[in-house]
Order: sequence, then structure tokens, then C-alpha cells
Amino acid sequence: MIYRTDYHIHSSFSDGRAAPEDYIAPALAAGLDEIGFSEHLTLFRESLDWSMNASDVEPYLKHINNLSRNVTSIKVRKGLEVDFFPGKEKEICSLLKKTKLDYAIGSVHYLGDSTVDMGPEFYDGKNIDSLFEVYFDMVDAAAASGLFDIIAHCDLIRIFGFKPASDPENLYRNLARSFKIHDVAFEINTNGRNRPVGDFYPDRKYLRIFREENVPVCVNSDAHLPSRVGQHFDEAYELLRSTGYSEMAVFENRERFMIPF
Ligand SMILES: [Zn+2]
Ligand SMILES: [Zn+2]
Repeated sequence: MIYRTDYHIHSSFSDGRAAPEDYIAPALAAGLDEIGFSEHLTLFRESLDWSMNASDVEPYLKHINNLSRNVTSIKVRKGLEVDFFPGKEKEICSLLKKTKLDYAIGSVHYLGDSTVDMGPEFYDGKNIDSLFEVYFDMVDAAAASGLFDIIAHCDLIRIFGFKPASDPENLYRNLARSFKIHDVAFEINTNGRNRPVGDFYPDRKYLRIFREENVPVCVNSDAHLPSRVGQHFDEAYELLRSTGYSEMAVFENRERFMIPF
């Protein structure tokens, strides 16, 4: 039996469709040993309907702590998915410092004022090769900030299926090296399956690069619905095994441990 965790889950505290407790039964059915919530926290943007505000963090953590006390069949973890904004490291750091989490997930959704995942219009008239470079640079900066334990969907820029004309292998190589140097894990995010790109993040073609650079990995669903918890995990673990991975990263109190699978 593989020890399974799913650390990237959204409930109605941000843009998920159900209360945290509604995710417990599906998590058990999916054979998970740990379930972790990671609500969106997007600072420096005015009241977004898909994200919590800083003032929502304490009530959210209180709720998850209660849930964790009441549920004994599975470990319940506390996380946040925090948007990275360059130049705002100090503010993000001070918020994370006073917040008791098991892990912090760092995400890049924004390039400038726009999010790369809301609609394909963002890509209209843009040079896809340059966009990939800019996006990977931003993810690199998120890793280098030292603020996060896990970097989410590291090639989210693939979401609508646009591909660069030249092979982006080098971008993946540089990113994997940066993750290793800055001691941050990445995720296989299975939710890409439900998006236009129709496959996991990162692109499985380049997964071996993360293995070669020895970057710690975990498998996450990025579920916004209870039915998607642990979705496609058999395939994700099989893919990891075929790439040469034999252990995964687990988190508690912002400390990382490696567990064989
Ligand atoms: Zn995200
Ligand atoms: Zn997410």
C-alpha cells in the first residue's frame, strides 16, 4: 500500500464547492492517509471571489483544527495556496510567519495584472515562447523566495494547450535545479486533466528532469469538488515510479519528511 497524501484541496473557504468536512469521506474512499486543505490566499488584490482575504485565515485555521480533532480516520493538514508576487516577499513572509501551517504552497497565477488560467483570451496575440519564459522565471522567483514548501502547478502556462515553437526542455531543467537549490518540493497536479490541456502539471515529458535533479515531489489533486479528491492518483504514482521516483514528500508543521512508496 502506498502512503497517500493530497495536500492541494480547496473548500468553500476559498473557491471550492463544499465544506471541508464534505471532503473526508471521499478522501477515505480514495485511500488517502492524509488530506490537506490549501485555500487560496491572494494578497495585494482587492476582494477576489476565488480567494480568502488575510482576515479569513484565522477562522479557516480554527475550522480545520476542529475538523482535525473530530476526525480520527485520516490525518487532516493545514495549508494555504499563496500567490507569489515579486517585490512582496516581506509582506508574504510576515503573514506566513504568524500562521501555523503544515505547509505553504506557492503559486503563480498572475503575470502582471492578469491571471494565466482564467481564460484563453490572455494568450491572444502573445508570443507563446516568451510567455513560457516569463512564466518559468516567475515560478523560479517563487521558489527562490524561500517562502514556500511546495510549488504548485509549475507549468500552469500550459493550461489552454498553447505550446512554444521551440522545445522548452531548458526551462524545465533550470526550474528543477532552482527547486533543488532552494529546497522546495513540486507537485504532480492531477487537476490539469480537467482543464483544456487535458494532462497533469508538469508536462510528463519533462518529469525525468525533476528526477535527475532530485527534486522532492508530492501528488496533489487541486480538487475544488469532493469527487475530485485523489483523482488520477494511481496513474500519477505509476508515472512517478516509471520515472525513477521511489519516495514522496510529506509535511507537518512546515517540516518535510520523505516516505517511500
Ligand atoms: Zn493554483
Ligand atoms: Zn489550487
